[in-house]
Amino acid sequence: MSSIGQITAYARFAVGLRRYLHEPATAELGREAIGRLLLERESSFLTLVRRAVYENERSPYLALLQMAGCEYGDLERMVRSDGIESTLTRLRDAGVYVTIDEFKCRKDIVRSSTAIHCEPQDFDNPFLHRSIATGSSGSRSPGTSTRMNLDRSRYHALNYTVVFSAHGLTGRPTLLCMPILPSAAGLGMLLQSSKMGVPPVRWFSPVQGRTIRPAIAKRLATLYAVYAGRLFGVPMPSPEYVSTDRTGLIADSLVGVLKRGQGCVVFASPSLSVRVCQVAHATGRSLAGATFVASGEPLTPAKMNEISSVGAGAVNLYAFAECGIVGFSCAGEKPVCDDIHLIRSSVAVIQRRRDTPYGGGSVDAFLFTSLFNKAPKILLNAESGDYGVLETRTCGCELGDLGFTQHLHTIRSFDKLTGEGMTFVGTDVVRIIEEVLPSRFGGFSIDYQMMELEDKEGRTRLNVLVSPAVGEVDEARVVDCVLAELSKGSDTNRMMAEIWRQGGTLRVQREPPHLTKGGKLLSLHIVRGGQVDL
Ligand SMILES: [Zn+2]
Repeated sequence: MSSIGQITAYARFAVGLRRYLHEPATAELGREAIGRLLLERESSFLTLVRRAVYENERSPYLALLQMAGCEYGDLERMVRSDGIESTLTRLRDAGVYVTIDEFKCRKDIVRSSTAIHCEPQDFDNPFLHRSIATGSSGSRSPGTSTRMNLDRSRYHALNYTVVFSAHGLTGRPTLLCMPILPSAAGLGMLLQSSKMGVPPVRWFSPVQGRTIRPAIAKRLATLYAVYAGRLFGVPMPSPEYVSTDRTGLIADSLVGVLKRGQGCVVFASPSLSVRVCQVAHATGRSLAGATFVASGEPLTPAKMNEISSVGAGAVNLYAFAECGIVGFSCAGEKPVCDDIHLIRSSVAVIQRRRDTPYGGGSVDAFLFTSLFNKAPKILLNAESGDYGVLETRTCGCELGDLGFTQHLHTIRSFDKLTGEGMTFVGTDVVRIIEEVLPSRFGGFSIDYQMMELEDKEGRTRLNVLVSPAVGEVDEARVVDCVLAELSKGSDTNRMMAEIWRQGGTLRVQREPPHLTKGGKLLSLHIVRGGQVDL
């Protein structure tokens, strides 16, 4: 965006922020908004596709629909007679979907003999205003630039009010433990919790601007929102940098808030949540009354156990930058701890069986369709790189009673490595494993492998396997080399690599790379509870 464009966006943002902060989100308003959106679900979908796809000749989905011979009238008839999900399934079978590589423009879209070349902005939502451009906590690949939008933030805050009500968290004080921009998650949560009338007591960022050197516009955006918010009467905290070895500071602050007797909601990645709980455990303190709202990586049974062991609870949130929030923890009986209600008011999901690029097996990938005209990107059967279980069931919790009857659980990624809420796409890591490490430390591409696993304390670890055949290597230098390579390219990458460095997420393991059950050697070996048919 040009400087003038940036200034105009900031000016619009300020005007919107004032109004935004003066209309508090309540659970009652949340239930009303969701109920209305569920009633209008089909119309919203049709209007969005008509305007953002059929009337937008740059849309990659338009070419796919034309190849499938689906005119707008056909789509409308199918939706009105069979519903959205059934229509999406028929479209998928006719080739109307985009894989994660196509969605991120890492590859052309190829169907039959036709190739469609796309640029990342071709997937942009053309109807967004009052937005500030941000990065994402995603990868270095193109197409991850998304926009902070107050209308979307309002909708997310309304969802949160209902979720807080379902989980008995309404009105509790909050702590924010998420990175500053270029990750949009921290600033987004600051705005949403402020809208709910519970701005964070403190904001702890696991990264500092000095280390990751974000673009000036991004540094200004954070300060701008905080100071504008204060000007409009909301006591928004400035971000405070807390390195991993000072996690005790967060635990101290949390215990301090809990002493007020009103509980506390902590917005943090599952890894950081676990680390706070471990510090509390080591110092013999209970975190009863604390609830971690955990997002950015899977909330696994091991992590949940660590959180429960100090008396705290966790509410799982599933979101990704291009779509926004997809779902929230069920408040009823759950088959597994990461079970979420799909927010059907704004998202539709079906699945597609596909081979995994690194797992050596196949998975039921999620295909997302956004029904919300303020979504960062237009999604029509678009992969996010995740797979898992999709099912419809009655759970008896408030979210189910609202009409959120579809659940997703056991959600894992098939193309990314995730740790500490940060993800790098597999292709970036493969290049380092297969090319950079052998050239720097000797051996061949098959002598190295990156393995993602969870240790017995619930922490996600990424082990760099170095075959003994390579001979003597300086393990610290291997870790430094991988982090230096990962941090290249953008401030988002520097931020993610810094978080991995601090978290001690990467370790060297001297053993030969593992083979899949099919006997294949893959540069990435992802060990996840038997969900991939390796
Ligand atoms: Zn439920």
